[in-house]
Amino acid sequence: MKVGKDKVVLMHYTLKNDAGEVIDSSDGADPLPFLQGHGNIIPGLESALEGSKVGDKLDVSIKPEEGYGERMKDAIQEIPSSALQGVDEVKVGMQLQSQDKDGNAFLVSVTKIEDDKITVDGNHPLAGQTLHFSVSIESVRKAEAEELSHGHVHADGQHNH
Ligand code: ZN
Repeated sequence: MKVGKDKVVLMHYTLKNDAGEVIDSSDGADPLPFLQGHGNIIPGLESALEGSKVGDKLDVSIKPEEGYGERMKDAIQEIPSSALQGVDEVKVGMQLQSQDKDGNAFLVSVTKIEDDKITVDGNHPLAGQTLHFSVSIESVRKAEAEELSHGHVHADGQHNH
């Protein structure tokens, strides 16, 4: 069975940046399950894996526009430290939950602290980066109807949430 829309795929993967540093990997863990064709993984990887089969090993490089997008200047904001009074100790690199004007929660990273001003960055940490994946396809099966209606994989095909 080949990887295609509405198939549940298990893959092992290693993700490196342009400098060749490992950013993320399933090494030593269970393979990552995803439902192909439902945006569970970034678009560039989904299209690269289309048509592959169990045992295939692929090396794929993905540009930002097919990955986590370009870095957006608008997503970087300076806020007064008084806006973070509920937080014990603010440090560079820490992630905070913020809300957009529609009330949706999203994560921002603290990138700079200066006197009473804090710079936060709402870009995805991998935005603007070309991503280099090494992937091996471990299994491919048809999705259950319930998985398709939820748009994600259930462990062993069972509903568990
Ligand atoms: Zn579900």
